[in-house]
This record gives sequence, structure tokens and C-alpha cells, in this order.
Amino acid sequence: MFDEIHEECGVFGAYRLPQASLITYYGLHTLQHRGQEASGIAVMDQGKISIQKGKGLTIDLFTKESLKKLKGETAVGHVRYSTAGGQENANIQPIVARGLKEQVAVVHNGQIVNEKELRVELEKEGCIFQGTSDSEIILHNIQKEKGSLYERVKKTAAKLVGAFSLIVMGEDELIAVRDQKGLRPLSFSKMEDGYVIASETCALDILGLYEHTEILPGEIVRFYKGIVSRERYALPSFQYMCAMEYIYFARPDSDIESINVHAFRKETGRLLAKNDWIEADLVVGVPDSSLSAAIGYAECAGIELEQGLVKNRFVTRTFIQPTQALRDRGVRMKLSPIKDVIEGKRVVMIDDSIVRGTTSRRIVRLLKEAGAKEVHVRIASPIITSPCFYGVDTSTKEELIGARMSEEQIKDYIEADSLKFMSVEELKEAAGHVGLCTACFDGAYCTPLFSYQEKLEN
Ligand code: SF4
Repeated sequence: MFDEIHEECGVFGAYRLPQASLITYYGLHTLQHRGQEASGIAVMDQGKISIQKGKGLTIDLFTKESLKKLKGETAVGHVRYSTAGGQENANIQPIVARGLKEQVAVVHNGQIVNEKELRVELEKEGCIFQGTSDSEIILHNIQKEKGSLYERVKKTAAKLVGAFSLIVMGEDELIAVRDQKGLRPLSFSKMEDGYVIASETCALDILGLYEHTEILPGEIVRFYKGIVSRERYALPSFQYMCAMEYIYFARPDSDIESINVHAFRKETGRLLAKNDWIEADLVVGVPDSSLSAAIGYAECAGIELEQGLVKNRFVTRTFIQPTQALRDRGVRMKLSPIKDVIEGKRVVMIDDSIVRGTTSRRIVRLLKEAGAKEVHVRIASPIITSPCFYGVDTSTKEELIGARMSEEQIKDYIEADSLKFMSVEELKEAAGHVGLCTACFDGAYCTPLFSYQEKLEN
């Protein structure tokens, strides 16, 4: 429906905190940009887990009364945008195992690329799966290993290949793990006598917690009986933080690997402008994720920055789109140009990425309909040419305009007067000390792809 890429999920954990479910609710609400399809909270109380989860936004799903029923001082929560696992209810997280000896809940952000191999192995050993998500594979594997919950999570993490930021909840215990390449972010902060863990630091900041500790790639952190211990379950590797987290997914007020997301995006805009000699009257960012890059571009190019587009933030995936007939009559729901700003102007339009090209074309048309004399499109990322198998919903090459067309052809397709992308080198320059995964731009995947290799080749 939309020409956009989507993050798979956001995770949150609260440890030894009165009102753990309420704190988790606030955390999930702050992470809602990472997934709007489903939401869930599981709480541990004296070895027993209570859970509420379902389709929809966190604010629609939970009430004061329902949160009160989720009693306990340790909680995990999840917001979901389904990718590999599909939209079935059984895939909504947290996923819980209730055994005779213990109850365990898991929340997961990312995608495991050796899931098929692990699933086959587990099925041979008699595991029965309720859903199709890789998170359930993780939980089953934790259950089948030997030792304490911590030892089993550690052994499981060592078997997983791909992207994962995980939180596992046991009795008076939370275990947080990040994949060896550090593809997805995960941080924690101390809060009163307990701790909170979140996919993004913005969910810690809203609790007044500005001191964050980033969980390292290949690290497992245990919150147990009030004590925090940290250990590596995998050898340190070169880091491959998902470049799209900086470019598009994360909130601008989050820090990833000590780099503020807004500052990163501003820098991409500045780098785009550095070797650009376009004559224009205005710089307009496509809201919301391109606004920071637009500021950087305008500052560096010395061109006035204006708000030329307004976004309706309430158009989600379940929104009933206007029919073609209404669209032909000019009905548009998601973005609107400000005619007074645009009319008669040569506009530099800054966007974060081009996936299928249809959105960019629509926005260029909107600006021209509003009277723009010229529209020069500048993209604050390189051309996307390869699918992602690490938890982002671009699973085939055919979907990607950059895999089928040259830059010149894309320019013609989106009806722009000119078009420029960043180079992969410039993107890496913006990231400074942080190693980036840039596989969707250059096809350099940081892990073996297992069964996904076929998808890539077909
Ligand atoms: S392939 Fe692209 S979207 Fe996927 S993890 Fe790497 S940078 Fe992120």
C-alpha cells in the first residue's frame, strides 16, 4: 500500500520496578514508530506470567484497568510490524512458554536468517510451533537447552545467525542479548532500584533516564536477583549497525552507539549539499524522517529551509485508502503541500530513501501541482538495490526501483528535474566511528544468508 520500508519491531523490559506494566506501556508507546500492527506486555509475578497482547496500537489495546491486572515488578513488552513471520495472532509478542518448572517470555527485534534450519532441527526433536515467527524458534530452543535459564539463553544466542535484540523474562530475571554484528540497537538505564531496557534510548529518556548503557554486539546482560552482570557470548566482530536505523527507523531524539540520530541525519544532508551546485529557492524536507537532513542540506547550501509539506500522522496501514476515482479528483490523505510556500519556486526536495519510487513520484507531482517551477530530488541515502533479510520488509529485488533502473531512469520515473543520491562512502563518513550494515545499498551482507540466499538469487 505504501512505498515505504518498515522496521520489524521494538522491545522493552522493566526489572524490579513497581508499576512495571505501566512503565512498559509508556516505553512501548514511545517505540510505536517501530511497529503499529500489534502490541503486547507480559508481567512476571512470583513465577507466573500474565499477558495481554493483540492487534493495534498500544494506546488502543491497554486501559488503566487492564494494566492494573498485569501485576508484578518485572515486565517485557513489544510493538510489532510483521515481516517474515506474517500477521497471524500467534506471532504477536511477547511469546510465552509455561512449563511445569518455570514460565518464560521472549520479545525479539530483528530477523534470524538460519531460522529454517533451526526450525527443522527443533521439529525433528518434537517441538510443535503455534505460529510462523522466528521468535518462537528462539523460545523453543531456549526450552530445549540444558542448564539455568541464563545458560540456555546464552547457548541459544550462540546458535542464532542474523539480527536480534532479545529480552527474555524468567522469575526475578531479565536477560538482554544483542547479535554479534550489532545490527539492531538495545540499551538499558538504571531506574530507582531497578532497570529498564529498550530498543531505542528515546524510550528511556521519557522516563527521565538520560544515562544509557548500550548493550554491545555479541553481549548478554543478566538482571538477576537485583544484580547486573555482563558477558560476551560471541567473539567481538566488526560492527554492522543497520544504516536504516539512522536514516529512517529510529526517532531523531534517540542515540545509537553514542551518535544522535538527528545529528546523523543533519550530517547526511550536509554531505549531500557539499558537492551539489543546484540553483534553487527553497529546501523542503519530506516529513518526518527527512526533516533533519533537510536542515543540514539547507545550512550547507545556503538555501532557505521551508515547511512545504504537511503530514497527517494518523494514516496507518489499516487506513482505508481513497479509491482511484477519489484520487483522480485530487483527494490525498497522507501528505499535503503548502501552496503559498511552493508556488513559483525552484524546490530542492529532501527525502530519506527511494524504495519502489511511487511515493517519490507522488510527492514530486504534489509539489508541481502546488505550482513548483522545478523539483530537484535529493536522497539522504544511497540507492537501495538489494533486499534486507535482517528484519526489514524489502524481501525481493523486484520491489526495488534501484535494482531495475539507472539513476537517470529513476529521475524520469519520479518526474523530477534532477536527482541525486548519497554514496555509500558518504554514508559511512556520516557514521564516523560506527561500523554500518549497508547491504541494501551494496549487497555486502554481513552474515551467511542460509535459505535466504535462494531468494536473493531468484
Ligand atoms: S540490509 Fe539495509 S535495512 Fe537491512 S540491516 Fe542492513 S542496512 Fe539495515
